[in-house]
Amino acid sequence: MTIQFDLIADRILAGGLANETEALEVLRTSDAEVLGAVSAAARLRRAHFANTVKVNYLVNLKSGLCPENCNYCSQALGSQAPILKYSWLSKDEALRQAGAGLRGGATRVCMVSSGRGPSDRDIDKVVEMTEAIKQEHAGVEVCACLGLLKDGQAERLRTAGVDAYNHNINTAESNHDTIVQTHSYADRIETIDKAKGAGLSPCSGLIAGLGESDEQLVEALFALRQLDADSIPVNFLMPFDGTPYENTWELSPLHCLRILTMARFVCPDKEIRIAAGREMHLRSLQATALQVANSIFLGDYLTSEGQDARADLEMLRDNGFVILGHEEAFNDATFDEVFNPSSRASSAASASASCASSSNFGTDCGGCAQTDTTHGSGQEARPAIRRRGAGTQAPANA
Ligand code: SF4
Repeated sequence: MTIQFDLIADRILAGGLANETEALEVLRTSDAEVLGAVSAAARLRRAHFANTVKVNYLVNLKSGLCPENCNYCSQALGSQAPILKYSWLSKDEALRQAGAGLRGGATRVCMVSSGRGPSDRDIDKVVEMTEAIKQEHAGVEVCACLGLLKDGQAERLRTAGVDAYNHNINTAESNHDTIVQTHSYADRIETIDKAKGAGLSPCSGLIAGLGESDEQLVEALFALRQLDADSIPVNFLMPFDGTPYENTWELSPLHCLRILTMARFVCPDKEIRIAAGREMHLRSLQATALQVANSIFLGDYLTSEGQDARADLEMLRDNGFVILGHEEAFNDATFDEVFNPSSRASSAASASASCASSSNFGTDCGGCAQTDTTHGSGQEARPAIRRRGAGTQAPANA
């Protein structure tokens, strides 16, 4: 029987909700019918977000050296992934990195640190950085992602001007203990509740491709709906060599599209962000996915390189989208003047030079600013380890 996705969209647009059976049906749609589901979900996306895309920029404040054992994470205890490892960026360096993303078109800066959770001195650092960023960039949104929060820390961040707090549930509660053992699903929910209680906008999402079932993906999305997360990053597992998920390939481009489409049906008016793994897993379907999702990260991820920031912006423009907050400037006449062309040119030049000198392509290479973010193709691909931006001397990809 053909699923009437348009009828489900009609009901949601009239104020109804998708149920779990319908969400599962989206995930199990045949290849021939996927675009029908995308088309119906795109009506929800357009109703709430028109043709805007929110552009976010990650600043990795502290990389690696984490005592937690999240199996999917290249920064985890026991990970042998050859990522950049460094302790806290200085305030000036954080400001410089944030500025690169903002000049590149981002309107939200996501300030992330590895670790179980921040100490009060760590909160002091983030407070200072936030105040400096807000002073220099009027209107910027700051999201902090610092791990599990202790009592009072969320309030301090909010008072300093932090707008949002990210803490992903990552997977369904029924799958959580298979992906990490050093903290619990309940710990994660407690931190999200603390952030909400302090008036921070809750940002929480998931990682697909961790061995979860379709039912568990639905369970995770309904948990996020229950949590009332304002923004929902959907990550697709990047199987770093040297982690327990090395060589784990469970996703196809069409299945990633189904997951994002299901997320839009379940959370029709929420920011659905295509997060890490976008280029590696959606591949040629990135732009199609933006018909249901309405948010991306510009440029690089925490420990891996994304496609060139210019390619991100051109993809949006080619497909008729505008950047939320930059609607007027996002046109042919001013595009190259407004969106940081000099930084992109120097980033590309720097990365090309480093590629030319690299002798260890694929595991520890010197960085690459080409549109391909992986080395190899399809399931032979490997995440390209980030070697530019925060924690390096090389210009950021922004
Ligand atoms: S707590 Fe964060 S940085 Fe540490 S291993 Fe888990 S996901 Fe990675």
